[in-house]
Amino acid sequence: MDVPVQQRPRHVRGPVSSVILYLLQAGWTPTSATSWQAPGDGTKETHALEFQAGAFVGLDQAQPLLAEFEPTLAAQLRREVAREFCGAGLEQGTDLQSYRHYMVSFQGVHRGRQISELLVTIATDGFWTQQRKFEPKLTDSDMCLRCGEEVGTSVHRCWLCPKNRDSPAYALSDELVPEAVAEQHTYPAFWMRGLIPADWTKVQAPAASEPFYGSQLVGDSVGLGCLGRGALESPIVIFGDASGGP
Ligand SMILES: [Zn+2]
Repeated sequence: MDVPVQQRPRHVRGPVSSVILYLLQAGWTPTSATSWQAPGDGTKETHALEFQAGAFVGLDQAQPLLAEFEPTLAAQLRREVAREFCGAGLEQGTDLQSYRHYMVSFQGVHRGRQISELLVTIATDGFWTQQRKFEPKLTDSDMCLRCGEEVGTSVHRCWLCPKNRDSPAYALSDELVPEAVAEQHTYPAFWMRGLIPADWTKVQAPAASEPFYGSQLVGDSVGLGCLGRGALESPIVIFGDASGGP
């Protein structure tokens, strides 16, 4: 523990010290020779995990440790994702349900493969605005290549560039421009990449005595359900044709 963080990998000598290094890097805190405190991720209480050194002999058998480490690792990855370009807003994860739905729906459409590949490129941060290229000196100018009037930021490219007007489709989302501009730094993952923060769609489990009314997109249909006590584990989905009436 007294070893500086940067020098810790040099002190790894075997499986036990490797595990100790990983736990320290993941933010776990040793509280005694055989117990560790897992970091809280905001959704779960922290608690201590105790194990004997002998457990490391067959680490793949150490299920309690691995099960406890999994959410720690997932939270660490989510934080890293949120620090990437246009990643803010994804600190609690990403709800990819609508993206998956689009991927499936494009399979039968003309040029659907190219469209879905473009979606994946955007979702995985594979688009380079002029400003993004300029920062590591990959280009001489950060000005938008299409209009040449403003710095080529992501919000300019997606929402503000006057050259977007070449496509009438952009007019359909005009009313959303003020909101996109206002949230360009807090939720760029949503406004520039189309990724929905997982905490936006997370449904709190109802109290046991409280009926739950909800809807869920299933394939191309919207299932409407009234779920009674304890039914979340085995929900009943009732489908309607959305035509209204009784
Ligand atoms: Zn422009």
